[in-house]
Amino acid sequence: MNIHIYNSLSRDKELFTPVHDGVVNMYTCGPTVYDYPHIGNLRTSVLMDVVRRALVVLGYDVTSVMNITDVEDKIERRAAEQGVTVDEIVTKYEKIYFDCLDKLNINVDLFPHASDHIQEQIKLIQELETKGYTYLTDYGVYFDISKDKDYGKLGNTFHSDKAQSRIELTEQKRNPEDFVLWRIPATGEVRQKLWESPWGKGYPGWHIECSAMSMKTLTNAFDDNNNLHTNKFETIDIHVGGMDLKEVHHENEVAQSESVTDQEFVKYWVHGAMLNMGSEKMSKSLGNFVTLPVIEENGFDALDLRMFYFTAHYRKELTFTYEGLQAAQTALSKLRAKYFEFADGSDDSEEIDDSATALDFTKVENYVERFKEALADDFNMPKVIALVWEIVDSKELKNFEKTALIAEMDEVLGFDLTDYELHQKSQNSNQVNLEELPQSVKDLIQKREDYRRNKEWQKADESREELKELGYEIKDNKDGISIIKI
Ligand code: AMP
Ligand code: ZN
Repeated sequence: MNIHIYNSLSRDKELFTPVHDGVVNMYTCGPTVYDYPHIGNLRTSVLMDVVRRALVVLGYDVTSVMNITDVEDKIERRAAEQGVTVDEIVTKYEKIYFDCLDKLNINVDLFPHASDHIQEQIKLIQELETKGYTYLTDYGVYFDISKDKDYGKLGNTFHSDKAQSRIELTEQKRNPEDFVLWRIPATGEVRQKLWESPWGKGYPGWHIECSAMSMKTLTNAFDDNNNLHTNKFETIDIHVGGMDLKEVHHENEVAQSESVTDQEFVKYWVHGAMLNMGSEKMSKSLGNFVTLPVIEENGFDALDLRMFYFTAHYRKELTFTYEGLQAAQTALSKLRAKYFEFADGSDDSEEIDDSATALDFTKVENYVERFKEALADDFNMPKVIALVWEIVDSKELKNFEKTALIAEMDEVLGFDLTDYELHQKSQNSNQVNLEELPQSVKDLIQKREDYRRNKEWQKADESREELKELGYEIKDNKDGISIIKI
């Protein structure tokens, strides 16, 4: 099946052809581990997971790498504020991040750390120096963008803001967009983590970390002794990140990597749109962020959040609201309930004969095709969600066909829909306290009970339907009844 991916580099949907048939290498810019990730960061993490899962379903052998940025000013600052070591901060927040990934059912093959790739970063900077792309100031080694003829091709990265340009030029830079490759700390600057280098004790710039880690883990550019072999570099298929990284961070990754190898760095750039609060991007610096533990305290599950993300295509901005999350929770719990209703197969069992139990392949395959087409159309998850509801409501599909299809789609949805315990939990979380129901609903429940006691089954059923119209489902169980909000 032809796959089309929107490539930020060409600003167009392109036919996807990986460097090697059947194999995909993908790299995602990961978190700086100094604080809780917010649910904006996690939107981009879910995007990475969807790209990986979709390509697996579409028949590719995928390797997904996400780095951990553990060398950064913010980490040093946080450690100093709390009077602890950088390693303690990194270990603590990395674990918190991994917990979020686990809860969101996000899978990654490898998590390289920037601090484990200092030698590779130094090798890349030395190569750039040899090729004449760098210059030295009192502040460190800089990349000279004027030496790179196609600088700006991804992010259109030029500082139009003059005030900003002056700030950028204070570090003795030649061009405002020049960026640091190796930082030499200012006199008196206290840092826990510094490394020896040909330019003195210091630490790498943020952008070079990603070039080094992606080349090391996904290409043969570095051997086991960290020697650089530029001729062994092979273009990386996909690079994922948030839209906010395109203009500077990714542009600089491209500039330095391609200047080292003289080959295309990445074939397809996939950028996820931002999660917003109101009209602004959710961010730590604006202080308008929400974390996973906070939404959990409010009675939501990480997978409700995953469902919420799928309400918009990844290239569309999405505004977070609790109403939106509530709707996603209701939808997910309904989907779980439907799956188990179909899995019980009660309405099929009456007509067990060969025609009822034999999977109608062409009919089912047609839905599978449509599922794959939605994935192949630039990872269109809202389309996948619409299709799953179409399957739920379908009159032509039998229950066991529906369960088979939903389970297959869950390979990408990642909701663990076949997990009975999760289903029970979600039913219970929707269970309402009888005392808190409106009087009219209480009366209706009582009426139904009376009908049942008098064995007036039809009238009891009518009351059940009336309750449904008011948004409540009544469940009979061995201890009496429970009421579920639908
Ligand atoms: P950071 O820790 O800020 O470097 O961000 C980690 C990842 O989250 C990057 O891929 C960012 O692009 C992404 N990101 C940051 N803020 C948002 C947001 N509001 N919505 C979506 N992704 C975001
Ligand atoms: Zn990066």
